[in-house]
Amino acid sequence: MELEILFIVITFIVFIVFLLWELYAPARVYTHEYKKNSYITNSGVFIFNNILTYVLSVASIFVIASSLQLHGIFTLLPIPAQYIIGILLLDLLIWFWHMINHRVPFLWSFHQTHHAEKYLNTTSALRFHFGELILAVVFKSFILIILGIPLEIFLMYESLITIFAIYHHANIRLSERIQMILEYVIISPRLHQTHHSDKRSEHDSNYGVLFSWWDILFQTKDKTNPDKIGLSYGGEKNLWSFLIMPLVDRK
Ligand SMILES: [Zn+2]
Repeated sequence: MELEILFIVITFIVFIVFLLWELYAPARVYTHEYKKNSYITNSGVFIFNNILTYVLSVASIFVIASSLQLHGIFTLLPIPAQYIIGILLLDLLIWFWHMINHRVPFLWSFHQTHHAEKYLNTTSALRFHFGELILAVVFKSFILIILGIPLEIFLMYESLITIFAIYHHANIRLSERIQMILEYVIISPRLHQTHHSDKRSEHDSNYGVLFSWWDILFQTKDKTNPDKIGLSYGGEKNLWSFLIMPLVDRK
């Protein structure tokens, strides 16, 4: 429990740091109207998703999935090896999950809501449709059951996802050279901007969350600087248009 609180505090600090960074040194300049709409919609999405996560007791679902694990192969390894292999495996599988969210039309109908926003910023890390979150809970529960990854490693990875999502969605000004060095190991904000291009040929790339290696390995890395962020069609204006987007926009 103490570790959980520590991660919440770290996440909150990271969120504030990147929010201030992008406000004072933005990579792309947007009007006040874009920022206001984004902050209001994404805060609404965040509150809505947290209520739903609480009502569905998502934390208990992961505890149950962990208790149903098919084997305990991980526990045969030394603790550091458990963490290294566990986090690498989870990052590869989340890369795969993200990739199929782009390639399977039913999954894309939910995931496109995350891509619809034209102002990519720190709060975009909170912007996921509840349909995608529910499907991700099912996928992650199967990972826990089949691979037998210890629950504490899984929960640590979940916290890292949130921290990394805040970092790579942030509209921060950061030198090309530093981003290039970071990209040898992790996803950079500029790689994630390509992932949010309005062109399908560009946004079907850079699926990584933590490490950039999977996109290099599967040849999905793209360093194109996109002309426009977002999608050419609806779903970004307010919470309601965001929520109904999977039903009305299928492209
Ligand atoms: Zn995506």
